[in-house]
Amino acid sequence: MGGRFVAESNPMTIFKKPTLKFAAKKKREMPEGLWTKCPGCSEMIHHLAIEENLRVCPKCGHHFPMGAHERIATLVDEGTFEEADAAEVAHAIHEGLVHSRGVNCDI
Ligand SMILES: [Zn+2]
Repeated sequence: MGGRFVAESNPMTIFKKPTLKFAAKKKREMPEGLWTKCPGCSEMIHHLAIEENLRVCPKCGHHFPMGAHERIATLVDEGTFEEADAAEVAHAIHEGLVHSRGVNCDI
């Protein structure tokens, strides 16, 4: 077949930027005792329960508001998310492109 097999071009390592890590450290570091009253059913729901249920109330299905960064945190495992285009994402959020319904792009 010929040709060189280039296995080391993993974009996640190419774009690694040590100074841009702000979104990945939210999940699973919640201190205990954080309870939120669900607007839907008035139950007190623990933050972890909400997070693990993707910010949907386990009791009544109420959708809690979710920011773009929180959405990212639910999509990736902690520590695996490296900001590749932080400036671009921040710009998009600024412009309202990803604001209305969370993140619109495929990650
Ligand atoms: Zn509820």
